[in-house]
Amino acid sequence: MKLETIAIHAGNKVDSSTGAVIQPITLSTTFERAEDGGYPHGFIYTRAENPNRSSLERVLSALEGGEAAAAFSSGNAAGSAVFQALEPGSHIIAPSDMYHGLRTLINVVYKGILVADYVDLSDITAIEKAIRPSTKLIWVETPSNPLLKVTDIDAVVRLAKRHGIMVCCDNTFATPVFQRPFELGADIVMHSTTKYFGGHSDVLGGILITRRKDFFWEKIKNIQALSGAVPAPFDCYMTVRGIKTLPYRMKGHAANAQKVAEFLQAHPAVEKVYYPGLKDHPLHEVAARQMSGFGGMLSFLVKGSPDDARNVANRVKFFTQATSLGGVESLIEHRASVEGPDTKTPFNLLRVSVGLENAEDLIADLKQALDGV
Ligand SMILES: *Cc1c(COP(=O)(O)O)cnc(C)c1O
Repeated sequence: MKLETIAIHAGNKVDSSTGAVIQPITLSTTFERAEDGGYPHGFIYTRAENPNRSSLERVLSALEGGEAAAAFSSGNAAGSAVFQALEPGSHIIAPSDMYHGLRTLINVVYKGILVADYVDLSDITAIEKAIRPSTKLIWVETPSNPLLKVTDIDAVVRLAKRHGIMVCCDNTFATPVFQRPFELGADIVMHSTTKYFGGHSDVLGGILITRRKDFFWEKIKNIQALSGAVPAPFDCYMTVRGIKTLPYRMKGHAANAQKVAEFLQAHPAVEKVYYPGLKDHPLHEVAARQMSGFGGMLSFLVKGSPDDARNVANRVKFFTQATSLGGVESLIEHRASVEGPDTKTPFNLLRVSVGLENAEDLIADLKQALDGV
């Protein structure tokens, strides 16, 4: 099956008791036992397993090409399960511009339990230098948030394998429509399903997918069921529903983002545009090799003061000023003020989640906002 077909069919089952074409939402927290004490439908209790969560896990592992998946109540909960599954004292190598929420999670919640070094992952020598005997995990996020840096997954995996280190890839920005980390040798793929999978900015979730059901995966499944940071059946249903149109939405997001990026690049009030689909992106070649499309996220620097950047965000009409990404509606965000005092993001940077409106409307809107700078 090709991706579009998987997206529609892998997470759905016609309901045999009613003939409903769309699998219903199973709110029941508990499931009946048979006389022999068994569980004939395979479900016991919703924290451990639920029909809607199984559907979501099935479609996501099929989309990524993994052996199994574990769904969580948020992307951060999914990331947290990986960190929890590591032995205390383990060392992690993570990107210098790792998603801010996950970086804070490691530094605050896992303080004293795990040790992390934040490294520019486009520099393989720097990664190799950071490796210690206790290094258990290299965390890759590509393209990264918010600077759209690209990491050569294949090169990182080859280095990691030589040292027996696991690689987890946060594939939230690219989605399996554009980037396939398992084909490049990654061990685990992570997503915030809040973003492109849900796709409509109305459901929170996260997922881990594994290439192999090994010992580490058993630990993750235990953490999922015992820590219980699991998504509600309704949330699973919403995400499965969003996924059905994912391949088509991603193509639309990428086509719009490319047009918007090219427009911004040519505008005199714009200092720099970060989008891997632009020929002058420093890692465009790597992106073109490992991605079949460049996604819907971009950032740009407005010439002038941070206030000029904020004013552009205030003047646009079709872009809502809000954090998050991946919805059908375009969002714009002054990223540094969201990340707080320890941010490394330039103060004149605006991050854009390019939606599925008509690109000409989006460009005309940005033009009127930028012409005023
Ligand atoms: C949003 C996001 C996360 C965290 O996901 P939540 O669902 O907000 O917990 C992790 N990584 C990336 C790249 C993200 O964009």
